[in-house]
Amino acid sequence: MFLFEIGRCAGNYLWSYVPGVSSEPRKRKKTTEDVPNRNGEREKLCLQDRHVTCRLHRDDLKTYVQLPKGVEENEWIATHTIKLYDNLQLITNCLTEYCTAENCPVMSGGQNLIFYWVSERNKKMRPTAPTYIEMVMSWTEKQIKDELVFPTKYGNQFPPTFKDTVRKMFRFFFHIIAHIYYSHFQDVINFELVPHLNTLFHHYVLFSQEFNLVEDKEMAPLETLINLLIGTN
Ligand SMILES: [Zn+2]
Repeated sequence: MFLFEIGRCAGNYLWSYVPGVSSEPRKRKKTTEDVPNRNGEREKLCLQDRHVTCRLHRDDLKTYVQLPKGVEENEWIATHTIKLYDNLQLITNCLTEYCTAENCPVMSGGQNLIFYWVSERNKKMRPTAPTYIEMVMSWTEKQIKDELVFPTKYGNQFPPTFKDTVRKMFRFFFHIIAHIYYSHFQDVINFELVPHLNTLFHHYVLFSQEFNLVEDKEMAPLETLINLLIGTN
């Protein structure tokens, strides 16, 4: 129910940046290194102006994330969460050939930053990146398909824990996004997915901020990129 109703409000944007993603890997080009900036420091590829400014559209994304009049907040949050999940899955699917246990033995998200998985029995695990991503995507799909967590039928109510579940999803999404920017940005360039990734992350950041879904400290590993993405919109 809410998918259809909200889709009419934001459909043009929500669908506008997904269809171009192909699941067919293209031939990999020669890997290039991060280049020195004016201060002689090595600048990360994703922070370079030519990449940061690469987006799918120039519309004001900030207005797209705001709750429209007459729409229930949880329905709005659910719709954007599902769309972010779908778009993130399209990008991760393109990278499966490169994000392997061999290439990515841990879920890295930056220099000396590894994301751990905590099992239901509270056991801390250090899975490979592809395993971590698979666990996040499977867990998220399970929540989204659970009518008790993400109600779609008329009359079904959102549970009191709904926003906490979404916050957990958003934290997981960030880990995957950070891993892609940190470990696979060259692959993203090769697949010509930079505009898709930047738009997805920009959407993610603005939506998180609008509904207070992720604490700033959680997004600190990509703080510079966030400032550049928001600052250049
Ligand atoms: Zn990887």
